[in-house]
Amino acid sequence: MAWDFETDPEFQEHLDWMRSFVDDEIIPLEAVWDEMSMAQYDAATAPLKEQVKARGLWAAHLDRELGGQGFGQVKLGLMHEILGRCRIAPGVFGNQAPDSGNAELLAIGADAEQKERWLWPLLAGKVRSAYSMTERDVAGSDPTLIRTTAVRDGDEYVINGHKWFTSNGSAADFLIVMVRTNPDVSAYQGCSMIVVPTDTPGVNILRDVDTMTHPHGGTFGRPGGHSEIVYDNARVPVSNLIGREGEGFLLAQKRLGPGRIHHAMRWIGQSQRAFDMMCERALSRYAHGSLLAEKGQVQDWIADSHAEIQAARLLTLQAAWKMDREGSSKARVEIAVIKYFGAKVLYNVIDKAIQVHGSLGFSTDLPLESMYRHAREARFVDGPDEVHRQTVARQMLKRYRPVDGLPSEHVPTRQAHAREKFASYLEAATADA
Ligand SMILES: Cc1cc2nc3c(=O)[nH]c(=O)nc-3n(C[C@H](O)[C@H](O)[C@H](O)COP(=O)(O)OP(=O)(O)OC[C@H]3O[C@@H](n4cnc5c(N)ncnc54)[C@H](O)[C@@H]3O)c2cc1C
Repeated sequence: MAWDFETDPEFQEHLDWMRSFVDDEIIPLEAVWDEMSMAQYDAATAPLKEQVKARGLWAAHLDRELGGQGFGQVKLGLMHEILGRCRIAPGVFGNQAPDSGNAELLAIGADAEQKERWLWPLLAGKVRSAYSMTERDVAGSDPTLIRTTAVRDGDEYVINGHKWFTSNGSAADFLIVMVRTNPDVSAYQGCSMIVVPTDTPGVNILRDVDTMTHPHGGTFGRPGGHSEIVYDNARVPVSNLIGREGEGFLLAQKRLGPGRIHHAMRWIGQSQRAFDMMCERALSRYAHGSLLAEKGQVQDWIADSHAEIQAARLLTLQAAWKMDREGSSKARVEIAVIKYFGAKVLYNVIDKAIQVHGSLGFSTDLPLESMYRHAREARFVDGPDEVHRQTVARQMLKRYRPVDGLPSEHVPTRQAHAREKFASYLEAATADA
């Protein structure tokens, strides 16, 4: 019977190597990343990237024909669990969001010439990309409201609109922009994705929006920022359209499935790092006659956090397994569950780890406060939790039918049926008595 929670020994070797590499080589770099210019960062990570390539683990999320490993989502999930320990680790492994999702999108939708122009350079780490869908003035959680238009004019599209929260937009060489190409049909048929190089006249990157993760700016021109962009009569050739006109939603759906597994597994890695810190501190700090590790309340946090991390991990790996076997649309519910469940676990575990560290946890002397601020975004990215909960609830409810009158578990009704069904036994039992 196949019900197996083991990792192949051969693949485990890769994971063991990754774990040491992330902890020994990448996490130390994280400590000075904010002080580095992009050129310094690129120089410092270049030799690390070479090691990853030499191990055959570069851009592993892609299929073999695209230079990846064709591992499938379960193995990728296990890899992302390790990469999630450190926010710069995915970049060193060539699968940093949003580039990884954009590469998957181009792999699915781009033609040979488009792949030559954008996909191969992206995979080689020579260019950066961003995904420009959310708009400031309409609800991003409902992408059918998208207002940005692309109107065909001869061999060009003319793009007008106001986007924001385009992650990495100010550092990107090109943007994949979700636009309305046909206002006369539903958004599901009327939206498209178009590649827009950032140096196109009319692409005005106004700023990186300051956020909880970067409240004091400093992101413009480097990965990590969330750009506000006005497209003002930006013209691109019609050949920049990905797929066919009207396929925007279809492509978006395909792009998001695997990305959510990777996000969720990275959250497990972050949660585990916070958990490690919490346990270390609990065993080291003494107060009111005992170590924190000996206090019931702290033990509750450790036990609950462990259970939550394990639950999120198994849910995510099961979603990945289902996706590998049946494809992302069949795994829709599982993928939605891990989005909101994983985001909550991440937030809870980091919160407890901060509490155990007291004022030190609240300070910037530890990474926990930064992890906490980053964790808050997990409840919005790829759509707010509420939308995913709604998807799950709707799918669950489809499995049920309403009843007329009393609930099907109504005890007196069930007893009446049972008395009738088992009458002969009940009579025999009464006679025996
Ligand atoms: C850090 C970060 C990075 C991002 N990166 C990108 C990116 O690279 N590209 C991009 O295009 N976008 C990006 N986004 C935008 C993100 O996708 C949107 O924030 C998200 O889709 C929500 O849209 P909104 O912010 O307009 O909120 P709204 O749509 O205005 O929603 C606000 C709130 O309304 C509630 N709500 C909405 N729908 C429902 C519902 N059905 N039921 C109950 N409550 C509901 C929720 O509480 C929600 O938080 C990013 C966002 C963040 C925070």
